[in-house]
Amino acid sequence: MTEAPPPPRARAEIDLGALRANVRALRARVAPHVRVMAVVKADAYGHGALRCARAALEAGADWLGTATPHEALALRAAGITDVPVMCWLWTSGDPWDQGIEAGIDMSVSGMWALEEVVRAAKAVGKTARVQLKADTGLGRNGCRPADWPELVGAALKAEVDGLVKVTGLWSHFACADEPHHPSIAAQLGVFRKMLDHAERAGARPEVRHIANSSATLTLPEAHFDLVRPGIAMYGVSPSPELGTSAELGLRPVMSLKAGVALVKQVPAGHGVSYGHHYVTGEATTLGLVPLGYADGVPRHASGRGPVLVDGRVRTVAGRVAMDQFVVDLGGDAPKPGTEAVLFGPGDGGEPTAEDWAVAADTIAYEIVTRIGARVPRVVVDAAEGHT
Ligand SMILES: *Cc1c(COP(=O)(O)O)cnc(C)c1O
Repeated sequence: MTEAPPPPRARAEIDLGALRANVRALRARVAPHVRVMAVVKADAYGHGALRCARAALEAGADWLGTATPHEALALRAAGITDVPVMCWLWTSGDPWDQGIEAGIDMSVSGMWALEEVVRAAKAVGKTARVQLKADTGLGRNGCRPADWPELVGAALKAEVDGLVKVTGLWSHFACADEPHHPSIAAQLGVFRKMLDHAERAGARPEVRHIANSSATLTLPEAHFDLVRPGIAMYGVSPSPELGTSAELGLRPVMSLKAGVALVKQVPAGHGVSYGHHYVTGEATTLGLVPLGYADGVPRHASGRGPVLVDGRVRTVAGRVAMDQFVVDLGGDAPKPGTEAVLFGPGDGGEPTAEDWAVAADTIAYEIVTRIGARVPRVVVDAAEGHT
C-alpha cells in the first residue's frame, strides 16, 4: 500500500484560477484600448512572482510591473521576454546596463538617474527604454513639477541622441483608496499639466499611467493608456472603504492553512503562551497551530487573530510566538492534523486577509505580502467562475 505524502505542516494555497478571473474582471472594467500592467513586485505580494506573472499574462495582462531591478531581471531570466516589463525603484549603482540589455522600461525620477541611464546606454551601445515619473502630490518617488522641465528636456535631448527612448510618463496616487479625497482631483490636474508640458516639449510616450488597483476600480478618468493593479489581482480589496473582495467582483488568491499540531485538555486558570496574557476561564481544550510570526502571522494580532478550526472561528489565545500559536477550542477535541484556516476567500466560513488586517491594525496588503519563506506555496487551480 502506498500512502499519499503527508500534507505540509502549513501551506499557503495559491489559486491561479482565481488570479486569472481577477485579471479578466479588471480588464473588463477598463476600456478596450487601456492596457493592464500586472504588478508582481515583492514576489507577487507573497504569491510567487513567476507563476502569477504567467497566469496574469494568460488572462490578458499586457505588461508586468516590479519595484526592484532584480525582480524585473528575474522575469526576463525566466523566459518572459516577449512582453514589456517596467521597474520603478532604482537606486544609484543599480544594473542599468542589464536593464537596457533586457529591454526593461526603467523609471527615472531625477537627473541623477537619467545620468546613470545615459552612461549605461553609451556603454552598452543600445537605446534605454525610460519612463519619466512625475510626483503629482504623493510626496514619495517622482520628479516634482518644478524640476520637471529640466528632467524632460534632458531626457528628450538624450532621445535625440539615440541613447534613450521616453516610452512612458507616469505617476502614482496618495489616496486613491479614499474615494472623493480632494488629493485625487488635485493629483490628476497636476498630472495632466505635466503630461501636457512633456508632450509640448516633444515627448511621444507609448503609455501614460497613474492608476493602481483602487483607481482601476473606481476612477475611469484616471485610466489613461494603462492601469497598474496589484492587490486587486490577488483578490484582496484595496481598502474596506471600497468594499469587500466579493463586492468588488474579486476572489482572494491566497489561503493560509495548517494542520493542528496538538490538542490537549487543560484545567481552569491555565496560562497560555508567553507572558500568560490569556488564562483559561474554565476547563477547556487548547489547539496548537504551527504558524508564527516567522511565517508572517502578525504578533500584533495576539489575542485577536481569527482562525477557522473544525467548523468554528476561534481566536488566537495569548501571544503569537515565532513558530506557533494556540487557540482555545472550548472543550472540542478535533483530531491532530485537523485543518486550521487562518484566511481564505471567506465563503467556507473562514476569515479573510482583511479580517487579519483588522485584527493586526494594518492593511490586507501587509498580511499576504509578509507570509514567510518557510511556508510552502501550493498551487491550486480551482475552477473559474465563482464571481
Ligand atoms: C505597488 C504599486 C502599484 C500597485 O498598487 P495596488 O494598490 O496594489 O494596486 C502600482 N503602482 C506602483 C508604483 C506601485 O508601487
